[in-house]
Amino acid sequence: MHNLTLIKGDGIGPEISEAVLKIIESAGVEINWDIQTAGAEVAELEGVPLPQRVINSVKKNKVALKSPVTTPIGKGFRSVNVQLRKELDLYANLRPCYNLPNIKTRYDNVDIVVVRENTEDLYAGIERQIDNDTAESIKRITRSASERIAKFAFEYALKNNRKFVTVVTKANICKLSDGLFLDSAREVAKNYDLPLKEILVDNCCMQLVQNPNQFDVLLLPNLYGDIVSDLCAGLIGGLGVAQGANIGNDYAVFEPVHGSAPDIAGQNKANPTAMLMSAIEMLNYIGEENAGNRIKQALFQTLCDNVKTADLGGNATCTEFTDEIIKRLNY
Ligand code: ATP
Repeated sequence: MHNLTLIKGDGIGPEISEAVLKIIESAGVEINWDIQTAGAEVAELEGVPLPQRVINSVKKNKVALKSPVTTPIGKGFRSVNVQLRKELDLYANLRPCYNLPNIKTRYDNVDIVVVRENTEDLYAGIERQIDNDTAESIKRITRSASERIAKFAFEYALKNNRKFVTVVTKANICKLSDGLFLDSAREVAKNYDLPLKEILVDNCCMQLVQNPNQFDVLLLPNLYGDIVSDLCAGLIGGLGVAQGANIGNDYAVFEPVHGSAPDIAGQNKANPTAMLMSAIEMLNYIGEENAGNRIKQALFQTLCDNVKTADLGGNATCTEFTDEIIKRLNY
């Protein structure tokens, strides 16, 4: 029996969480879930969007599965996602991005791993209003955070038989901050027998759109990592299928790349695949590889049988898609 935390989130969060829990349960994995809520409704009731009880639960259980929590745009509380990553020092955001079967995309054989620094850069939230017409944000980059994420990228590359790492910056413009990130990657690379390639983020976006197969592991500071991973999600069928994980030395939180998708919330239209793929990685992480593989096979078979949600051009609801995966678990 595993003790794990589920952070339910809002928007489409509750729908896709329910779907994923049902699939994991049907696969026979015994999990004692500590179900925690976070977000705007929680803020109204408890005064803060991310109460200490959520952090304590993850600290106790070490591993969590999380669905998205809405971040108010341009006002309101700081992102719960960012806060959680900082509180638990989940410094590495890992987003493997590869084609799933029977999902029509512009390119075949995309297989890119995005490694995004998760704790600093413009996400440190150091902003100030100078006057009514002027605001500024500080882009904070440190050598220690840059070196540990570079080390993570190389270690991941080694363990997973990847061929090289490409560090992505705008070091020609942000000479000090991105310059430090780049310099740290170069230093770390000296300890590994794998090549480090370098590319500017604007060129990287163009190259990804024109020829994604040339990339292997991408190493990026926080903001570029966020943007480029949405681009990579687009290459494999959209946010509905893009998985992710936030990993630190002590804790790991698995969550899809996408946000809370308020435009489709509560309509039973959401694609649970991204969260399910994240959950499969979580199962592998806790030693339940067999169940993880069985769920992946069932998911792939469902897609091959052309059962798809609307974002992938199908007409299955979230619940129908989930039930079809469960049916195929025991084929
Ligand atoms: P955030 O900045 O909070 O990460 P985002 O900019 O990535 O959010 P999303 O909330 O992920 O934005 O939504 C972007 C678009 O993708 C929306 O049109 C949404 O409906 C769609 N989308 C996101 N996730 C899913 C999903 N699981 N199933 C179907 N459509 C989705």
